[in-house]
Amino acid sequence: MNVEMKADLQIDTNYYKVVELRELTENTFVLSLPQSRFKFEAGQHISLSILGDYQSREYSIYSAEESNNLEILVKEVDGGYFSPKLKHLKPGDMVEVHGPFGKFGLDHKKRDTHQHVFIASGTGIAPFHSMVKTNPGLNYRLIHGVRYSGEAYEIEDYDRKNVTVCTSRDKNGDFNGRLTEYLKNTDFAKNTCFYLCGNSDMIFDAMEILKSKGFDRDSVTVEVYF
Ligand SMILES: Cc1cc2nc3c(=O)[nH]c(=O)nc-3n(C[C@H](O)[C@H](O)[C@H](O)COP(=O)(O)OP(=O)(O)OC[C@H]3O[C@@H](n4cnc5c(N)ncnc54)[C@H](O)[C@@H]3O)c2cc1C
Repeated sequence: MNVEMKADLQIDTNYYKVVELRELTENTFVLSLPQSRFKFEAGQHISLSILGDYQSREYSIYSAEESNNLEILVKEVDGGYFSPKLKHLKPGDMVEVHGPFGKFGLDHKKRDTHQHVFIASGTGIAPFHSMVKTNPGLNYRLIHGVRYSGEAYEIEDYDRKNVTVCTSRDKNGDFNGRLTEYLKNTDFAKNTCFYLCGNSDMIFDAMEILKSKGFDRDSVTVEVYF
């Protein structure tokens, strides 16, 4: 095989055919691709592009490590360039995937000695879905900040008693108010690992609250989306 053919093959392995788009809300969906051809650790992300389009964006992997499908959870951003295009993909369309990237993931040394508290805003729940699905029996709590209770994406995939949905714009959450308000009013055990994922405002505010509760930077891991 000549060098050019080898290079072609390598490129081909990054191409995936869309299996389905699973609609969760009016503007949020799960993009499902065939099983990943690379190994990844729950919490990592991929870089995605659409064939024929020069732009790419990063997305946390939503599916479990050994899942039959590689999935991401996407919110269509109003006025955004890329996410509205993803929303129009059809089964059989081709996308290009690079990765996995990033170090966001469970602290495995503390896996069985600590409680793992996942704090997410919006689609920032994606890496936690992957971690929970990959690690049955994990001692975790998930605190999910959304505007409306309908945005508690696929909540049935979690142990319901471990989840607190904080809704800022309706009164149907487990906590009616902002995630940060909930954090301020909640106590956590000393042996807690915190994982924060989502928009930078939420992450900054949450880190300040955790600091005021005596948790140092070493107990907090963050992934910023925008
Ligand atoms: C490591 C990493 C992982 C990510 N994982 C995910 C993921 O799992 N799911 C996901 O939906 N997005 C994720 N994102 C965001 C994603 O990469 C894109 O930024 C997002 O899809 C918007 O792209 P766009 O081209 O439509 O908007 P752009 O045209 O690039 O930007 C438009 C505006 O939208 C804002 N924006 C970006 N993301 C959001 C959002 N989710 N909600 C509201 N406003 C937003 C930006 O700040 C910008 O001002 C991740 C980002 C990073 C860095």
